[in-house]
Amino acid sequence: MKIEVKDWHTVAKWKWLKSEDSCGICQMPFEMACPKCTIPGDDCPVALGKCSHAFHIHCIMKWLENGRTECPLCRQPFEFDNN
Ligand SMILES: [Zn+2]
Ligand SMILES: [Zn+2]
Ligand SMILES: [Zn+2]
Repeated sequence: MKIEVKDWHTVAKWKWLKSEDSCGICQMPFEMACPKCTIPGDDCPVALGKCSHAFHIHCIMKWLENGRTECPLCRQPFEFDNN
C-alpha cells in the first residue's frame, strides 16, 4: 500500500510581507529603526505616502535625494500624506 505524502516544500510559497509592516526600502520592520539609526532612541518616524505605502523617513528621504520621484513600490509619483 502506497501512501502519498504531500511535499510541503512545494506547497509552501514565499509570502510577501504586508507593506504596512515593514519598510519597502530597507525591509526592516517599522518597530525597528532604519539601518542608519542603530542607536536605540533615535527618532526614526515612519513616512506615509499618498499611495498608502510607508517607509522610514530616512529611507525615503535618501531615495528622493538620489533624484527619484516615484514610490519605490508602486512607481507612482511619491507624495507625503500629511494627514
Ligand atoms: Zn527603512
Ligand atoms: Zn532612521
Ligand atoms: Zn507606493
